[in-house]
Amino acid sequence: MKIYINGKFYSKEDATVSVYDHGFLYGDGVFEGIRAYGGRVFKLKEHIDRLFESAKTIMLKIPLSSEKLMEDVVHTVRVNGLKDAYIRLVVTRGVGTLGLNPFNCEEPRIIIIADKIVLYPKTFYENGLSVITVPTQRNIAEAVNPRIKSMNYLNNILAKIEAINAGVHEAIMLNAAGFVAECTGDNIFIVRKGVIKTPPLYMGVLEGITRDEIIALARRFGIEVTEEVFTRHDVFNADECFLTGTAAEIIPVVKVDGRVVGNGKPGKLTRRLMAAFHELVRKVGVAI
Ligand code: PMP
Repeated sequence: MKIYINGKFYSKEDATVSVYDHGFLYGDGVFEGIRAYGGRVFKLKEHIDRLFESAKTIMLKIPLSSEKLMEDVVHTVRVNGLKDAYIRLVVTRGVGTLGLNPFNCEEPRIIIIADKIVLYPKTFYENGLSVITVPTQRNIAEAVNPRIKSMNYLNNILAKIEAINAGVHEAIMLNAAGFVAECTGDNIFIVRKGVIKTPPLYMGVLEGITRDEIIALARRFGIEVTEEVFTRHDVFNADECFLTGTAAEIIPVVKVDGRVVGNGKPGKLTRRLMAAFHELVRKVGVAI
């Protein structure tokens, strides 16, 4: 495997960063998880744009243009001979002193890893997931805004630990006001009386690229989609529930906190969107 660091390729063993890098010391940096399907990188521009937005908010200047960064992502997938891949693009603050001050750091580290995609077991998609809501709340926007895809994922990791301890794979996180926000690595949708609903971004949600694509796809089908504030009660009483994310794609949820959602099987609209999404990802994207 060849890993890209600031324009050069290294073997997996030699691809290292300094222990003085503030990405390592403080989780000071931003990242993206991107996928390639059948020789095309899906929604590359959207991922790069989100990376630049995250970086802007944390006042991290990415020392490459977005066009060059896109080229470098595609090139990294190509030199690794991959057609289907999971790509991790990371920009750290770079090497600094032991103090917090990010502006004393040298140049940012840009890291691109293109690896094989590890998929969730097929049964998750066929039978649906059982999830729980967890005590750890999603970060409030005034602390660490969930819109920033930062290297500081402890909020999500704490929620993930609670899910795993309870014997499930994913957790629904509520915000500080008790409304449904999102999951540890996925956005959440419910379906009620033919209308698809997902929490608005101001609930404390990452603007998922899969989320945006599913909203657009459903609207193209003539299905009503609303960004709406909702509670656990709405999830329990939904006809369908599903999660979206680059790694998980669209995954049905059939049980939440012991309550069976709908008829306990992946819903009709969910299955329709899953099929449409699978078709779409192989058709569009930047050629490798
Ligand atoms: N929410 C969180 C907290 C995430 O980490 C992710 C995965 N990046 C998502 C939602 C889904 O975003 P995307 O569809 O862009 O992968």
